[in-house]
Amino acid sequence: MGIAFESLYSDIAGRTGRLTVGKKTVKTPALLPVINPHLQLVTPKEIQSMGVEALITNAYIFSQSRQYRQRALDEGLHKVLDFDGVIMTDSGSFQLSVYGQVSITNIETLSFQRDIGSDIWVPLDIPTSPESGYETAERDLTITTERLAEAKEVFGKEAPIAGPVQGGIFTDLRKQAARNVTDLDFTFCPIGAVVPLMESYRYRDLVSVVMAAKQALTPSACVHLFGAGHPSMFALATAMGCDLFDSAAYALSAKEGRYLTTHGSFKIDELADLPCACNVCRSLTAAELCGAPDRERLLALHNLYITVAEISRVRQAIFDGTLWELVDERCRGHPQLLSGFRALLDRTDSLEKSDRVSKRRFFYRGDESCFRTEVVRYQQMLSRLRLGKTVLIAFNGGIRDEFDDTLFFKPPFGPFPKELKETFPVGQSEIPEWDDAMVTSGCRGIRCLIESHPGSRFVVSCKPCWGAIVCRELGAIEVRYDEI
Ligand SMILES: [Zn+2]
Repeated sequence: MGIAFESLYSDIAGRTGRLTVGKKTVKTPALLPVINPHLQLVTPKEIQSMGVEALITNAYIFSQSRQYRQRALDEGLHKVLDFDGVIMTDSGSFQLSVYGQVSITNIETLSFQRDIGSDIWVPLDIPTSPESGYETAERDLTITTERLAEAKEVFGKEAPIAGPVQGGIFTDLRKQAARNVTDLDFTFCPIGAVVPLMESYRYRDLVSVVMAAKQALTPSACVHLFGAGHPSMFALATAMGCDLFDSAAYALSAKEGRYLTTHGSFKIDELADLPCACNVCRSLTAAELCGAPDRERLLALHNLYITVAEISRVRQAIFDGTLWELVDERCRGHPQLLSGFRALLDRTDSLEKSDRVSKRRFFYRGDESCFRTEVVRYQQMLSRLRLGKTVLIAFNGGIRDEFDDTLFFKPPFGPFPKELKETFPVGQSEIPEWDDAMVTSGCRGIRCLIESHPGSRFVVSCKPCWGAIVCRELGAIEVRYDEI
């Protein structure tokens, strides 16, 4: 049966696609809600009615449960959970990371997952804590790789087995782990042991390890970010190329009285109003929800609605080519998310390769927009312009006959010939009044042009207020000041 992944639309490194497991398909990006059979605030049937096509549960809990083990073996997981979509099972690695040991072997857990009819099986990989040192991370990775090889050998190439990417906080080990799963022909690759990073808001480190893993994974691999469940970070993770998320956050938060939103979580007893359009929030006041006898269940329902809706919003942003804008918007919700966003922008050069050529629009949203892939790609493309011996770059327009060529200027991109005036990104970009950051970025574009045309002489004409930036960025270039 195997696992196959097909990408349909892409934006940055994110993609919408189709995950096929046997005869079942799942639209991606997708959220797999975590189901604990002993704690079902919302039933799998109800979750399916929200449009969820896949969920994840823990095979280790089933294997250790007097109540569920035999039923799962006799009736199958889908019947026990009353869910006919894709069910992925985790192996017990999570328990391993929390308790330090589990009473099951790699082959035992995979056999059990097979026998209860799971659609996607996870081997007993070793989740390395971000606090672990290099030697521990390396040793853990060796064991994980041996177990993945063992899984392929025992169950065959076509078995629907996930190949987790571990390696702790070390980017070279994450890359090595990604190369290992690629060499072993895994097409479904969860990035593991990142929950402690997300719980402590270490989004910069999260970007670092995910991007390291993505660099060495084949583009045809479906990438699952293990344990990522807060809606505020789906856009950021998708932009890095993650296709699947799984979340117990909706239920765990509900038990703690927390109300999830796309820009953070709130204590329900501190909310005066409910900023959401779901059935729960439209039929109750904040005070009624706070005091409801079934508050945990109602909060879990709201938390799921908001989470599933955000996944749809991410898919639409990819379709439109506006994912950078959604990432920017979401990452304003917490300073550490903003730090993660900036870490991602530091890697624009590698993201640019997978980004699409044309998009619906480019909205300038502040300094960070200057480092987006569209700007970097446009500036690289300037080397292809054919120019004469003398070139005027006119910030405020106006052609002067004394020059062979006149280019215009649109920050944050830089110079452009009139033929590109209507094309993306120059023609489909909206910017507010010019600011220092965007003009500086545009000057970087001029510098790319100058460096790639050593036979041409360049002159910039601009208002006096931009002279200092032009001189700072472009050194000895001739500047003429106009008063237009
Ligand atoms: Zn709601």
